[in-house]
Amino acid sequence: MNDGSDLNTICLRVDPRQPEPGVIRRAAAVIRAGRLVAFPTETVYGLGANALDARAVTRIFRAKERPSSDPLIVHLSAVEDLERVVSEVPEIVERLALAFWPGPLTLVLPKHPRVPDLVTAGKPTVAVRIPSHPVAQALIAESGVPIAAPSANRFGQISPTRPSHVLADLEGRIAMILDGGPTFVGVESTVLSLIGERPTILRPGGVSRESLTEVLGEVALSSTVVRGDEAAVSPGTHLKHYAPDAEVTVYRGDPSEVQQAMRVASRRLIQQGARVGVLIADEDLQAFQDLPVAVQSVGPSDDLETVAQRLYVSLRALDRAGVSHILAREFGTRGLGLAVRDRLMRAASGRVVDVQSDS
Ligand code: AMP
Ligand code: MG
Repeated sequence: MNDGSDLNTICLRVDPRQPEPGVIRRAAAVIRAGRLVAFPTETVYGLGANALDARAVTRIFRAKERPSSDPLIVHLSAVEDLERVVSEVPEIVERLALAFWPGPLTLVLPKHPRVPDLVTAGKPTVAVRIPSHPVAQALIAESGVPIAAPSANRFGQISPTRPSHVLADLEGRIAMILDGGPTFVGVESTVLSLIGERPTILRPGGVSRESLTEVLGEVALSSTVVRGDEAAVSPGTHLKHYAPDAEVTVYRGDPSEVQQAMRVASRRLIQQGARVGVLIADEDLQAFQDLPVAVQSVGPSDDLETVAQRLYVSLRALDRAGVSHILAREFGTRGLGLAVRDRLMRAASGRVVDVQSDS
């Protein structure tokens, strides 16, 4: 009974649209027994444990090698369950829930005393979400308990959007994985704090800032996200997340100038003996054809849903190709572009080349 050491990880296939009740019952029994189950959500794969069982939650931190200073998101299957984990539900939650739940929006609210401190890293607040993925929905409902679930990767690695990513990081460390194929959104949920004076985005994600603004009128961006808007970001612990093994540099600015700058930098790095990978859009493909670089396109730059969906799988593919350097372009700040930028900035630990101002 130890999800931190050797285990036979049971892998069960599940229909992502209509999960088989028998499979869900088996997984829910594992959750109720205080063990870990990795399961698909619409954003990325989560590593779930009974959120009200401190010993079960300890296993999450052990399996992921995650520092206990990093709080977990608690997943519910219905709004009615909010009161089980939140001590006070502000009025705007109703409007937000109507507009975005179930879905990729996480709300930070005052914590109920029954939630173990371990879940919230000792904070008086708890992050909650109602995911829309049918497998996540079914598993939480069948378990009958709130499920604490961070992304199902080892700490500091890229979040998993495929079951194979979960197995690569956590096989032998967790009791079960539900294989529901690729996830739908591809980047993590938007984390919105309702604690301060104004609703504040702590992490941009699957629900865009624009759609939150439509419902709330005004939404603030936390300073860590704002810093991602500027060229000079100091690599802090918070930024060292979602990182591939290769050294990542983000290129920002006019797309054709970014293309040119990435070509020049690729040539220079190759001359120095580096192995280079580029993360680009479909319309950039031709510009890199003649260079000996590993190429991953995340889709047409105006299709941000596809870009977000393919971001992590493309970063992983470049890592697997054994490159020492990844040069990545940005996709603006509109819609899902803001979440894509945030994740690229973290992968790059803040290394940005602003093509317009310092080429
Ligand atoms: P992950 O589950 O790996 O996607 O990460 C969960 C993230 O949610 C944390 O790293 C925080 O950024 C955020 N989070 C969770 N709980 C809280 C909280 N109580 N207050 C603020 N942010 C939180
Ligand atoms: Mg994570």
